[in-house]
Amino acid sequence: MAQQLKALKCEDPLPLNQSERLNSALISWFEEFGKNYPWRSTNDPYEILVSEMMLQQTQVSTVLERGYYRKWLERFPDFKALSSAAEEEVLRAWEGLGYYSRARNLHKIAIAVMKDFEGVFPSDLSLIEGLPGIGQYTAGAVASFAFNAAVPAVDANIARVLARLFEFTERIDTSGGQKQLWKWASGLVPQSGARSWNSALMELGQTLCKAKSVQCQECPAVSWCLSENPLELPVKKSRPEITEIQEYVVFAFEGKRVLLEKETGRRRKGMWKLPERAAESLSGLNLLTVQKYGITRYRVTMNVYEAKKESALENEQWFSIEEVENLPMPSPYRRVLQKIIKV
Ligand code: SF4
Repeated sequence: MAQQLKALKCEDPLPLNQSERLNSALISWFEEFGKNYPWRSTNDPYEILVSEMMLQQTQVSTVLERGYYRKWLERFPDFKALSSAAEEEVLRAWEGLGYYSRARNLHKIAIAVMKDFEGVFPSDLSLIEGLPGIGQYTAGAVASFAFNAAVPAVDANIARVLARLFEFTERIDTSGGQKQLWKWASGLVPQSGARSWNSALMELGQTLCKAKSVQCQECPAVSWCLSENPLELPVKKSRPEITEIQEYVVFAFEGKRVLLEKETGRRRKGMWKLPERAAESLSGLNLLTVQKYGITRYRVTMNVYEAKKESALENEQWFSIEEVENLPMPSPYRRVLQKIIKV
């Protein structure tokens, strides 16, 4: 069958009878092999939205095995509970997941749902897209997973599967490439069963059609797949190189209080960290510890010096150990404090 389909140009949709057969093969495979994640056994848009926001930059294993998803739902069980929490509390609960704009957006969405929709998450795709921080993918995911709406949700896994299925040799990270993928996905998504269909394609990308390995012989789509060299697809712009940077901070501890600096940068705005200092100002101080961490395309080496007499500069403040426990703080700084003073 793949041979017959090769006569199609890659931008052609599959003939209707072929799409129906492909969809039914995908859904049957998913019903047999799909994993039973907690967000797959609920129709609650809040629980689904939380999973989608967490999974945008974080692996399923981290979200589940380290308990982030479960603990979040215990602490903020619905839009109402989340909307009434302070932003600091929301950021603290997100700590460890990184990319904190996701937590801020989730908080803003909860406030908007309470204020504009009387606490009931809208089912209409255009209303979902109008909520703060919700893009095309997240809107499609919540609409299809919570309301079974017949809309696609093209994430990185689905994009890879579609690019291989249709032997798409153009870049997928351009607006033209994205448009083409969404067009195929819209043409294929079934009128009923979109929830299972989107889940099936995602599962396929997570299990049999991975970025660096494929198991085509096990794949429910093998009869329709046009790809001859799947590992060469999808085509994307090469990743920016990792840049090494040094960060110099001080650990100042006086009268059982620690000095912290409030972040003003976009990514970690509102969180607290060890105060940064210029490297030249640290000569003669004791190097306490070194902590390495990654953030976007940077590999950071944090050098932590012990400061004996330190004054609070702008955006800096002294906190007791008990107060530090409740402050939102990026994980690398929390790890350093845990090492030094067991916070
Ligand atoms: S046949 Fe292979 S390349 Fe094609 S979708 Fe399935 S796993 Fe991916």
